[in-house]
Amino acid sequence: MLMRIGGTDTAGIDEYWIEVKNPATGTFIDRVPSGTSEDVARAVEAADAATGGWKKKTMRERGMILFHAAALVREQHKDIAQVLTEEQGKPLREAIDEVRGFANILEYYAGISARSSDETIRLGTSGDCMVVHEPIGICAAIIPWNMPVIIMGWKIGPALLAGNTMLLKPASTTPLSGLKLATILEKAGLPPGVLNIVTGSGESVGEAIVRHPLIRKVSFTGDCSTGKKIQAMASGTGKELTLELGGSDPMIVMDDADIDRAVEGAIRGRFYNTGQTCTAVKRLYVHDKIADAFVKKLQKRVESLKVGNGLEPGIDLGPMNSAGQRERIAGMVTDLIDKAEGAILAGGCSLTGPMFDPGYFYSPTLVSDVRPGSRLLNEEIFGPVLPVMSVPDLETAIREANRSRYGLGASVWTNNLATTKQVFDQVHAGIIWVNRHLTVPPEIPFGGINESGIGRENGSRALESYSRTKTLFLGW
Ligand code: NDP
Repeated sequence: MLMRIGGTDTAGIDEYWIEVKNPATGTFIDRVPSGTSEDVARAVEAADAATGGWKKKTMRERGMILFHAAALVREQHKDIAQVLTEEQGKPLREAIDEVRGFANILEYYAGISARSSDETIRLGTSGDCMVVHEPIGICAAIIPWNMPVIIMGWKIGPALLAGNTMLLKPASTTPLSGLKLATILEKAGLPPGVLNIVTGSGESVGEAIVRHPLIRKVSFTGDCSTGKKIQAMASGTGKELTLELGGSDPMIVMDDADIDRAVEGAIRGRFYNTGQTCTAVKRLYVHDKIADAFVKKLQKRVESLKVGNGLEPGIDLGPMNSAGQRERIAGMVTDLIDKAEGAILAGGCSLTGPMFDPGYFYSPTLVSDVRPGSRLLNEEIFGPVLPVMSVPDLETAIREANRSRYGLGASVWTNNLATTKQVFDQVHAGIIWVNRHLTVPPEIPFGGINESGIGRENGSRALESYSRTKTLFLGW
């Protein structure tokens, strides 16, 4: 059952609704109900009622529904992408990529539905054991606004295939694309109550979800501080948690790297989605020998990036998602300027005036020679600001890369196998890319270490994380 909580009796009463506005233009798009803990309880009842029937289906039957949904999403990808750009701000081209990525994830999980990791263990005269995977029960997904479609796919794909029912809370600024996708899943044959969307704030709906005793697993993506709050709320309840809490990914460019390729890698790695990506390049370390040539090319490319309404053609960066996000980024850069902690090579300000107001635009920004104590190197920069530092050798690069409380991703740009091995062995991260950054196909496990969170999304490990084993021991 798809729940749009609220009703016509509340029409016109502002406190019952959340208005969704286009961050590029400030235009009202739609409104969604501002849910409460009672709405969460009703959604849990619906999920509970659906649990038995969904669990009884074979994995292949569940997979076929996901497969059918993916086909419908592909058919309607332009309409969904349009909604995503309107509510989130990203260029339409990136929104289309994201929607296709969602279909890709569902297809991936539909594809592995034919395989089973259940096993039989023979114990000689003691007996035989059968180990099966069972769904956990009711699971919840709490979704951020930066990649609302792909992150929804990462969570619902494995959870639904494994036979769980779900509650999903989208971010308050980007609930519309998720609601559209849920309608499509329903059309594809997802039975009533299997996926329930509850819109509303983190404090009301989010916390009610985490505290509800019948919800046995919560998968959250968002800010570190929210993740810690969720961890504290779930403590002692035996609830399972997957927490994806962001990162401050380093990119290391060595002196043997293909400079043009690395420059393009840094541009995409940092400025995709207006820099609002957890695995974006957030600290760039370049070998002294190539630093001048590299930074010159990079600066030129940063200055060439076109900022504007994501619905217009040829746009590289849309607005930031909210006034708060822009203020946070502007505050970090102002701080750096005030304390003389680095040199601004490009951008460094909010974009205002008739072409931009009242949108939340920020200029693509390149900063060099950033001091170690700067907020840019110690906090997650969730926007289009790239600090670049030169390093004398690989050891220094690795030491600086590891100077972070996060550990999500990292990349090294080199053609040298020994360099690759050294980075792979020594840099603290859940994924190390070589001559690439940001790419996360559904097949590979994704997640961080340290304050980047716990657990893994994607791949067969995510499927395992939405299941429990149960063993039948046959003593002959
Ligand atoms: P949040 O962590 O606040 O939001 C993420 C999701 O959690 C939203 O659905 C939000 O709801 C919900 N939420 C908020 N508070 C609670 C709570 N107490 N209990 C349960 N759920 C809650 O991130 P922000 O949107 O405030 O972004 C702040 C910063 O977080 C960014 O600047 C960035 O650094 C980081 N971030 C990182 C992301 C990543 O992918 N790593 C993604 C998004 C943000 P609601 O929208 O209603 O507040």
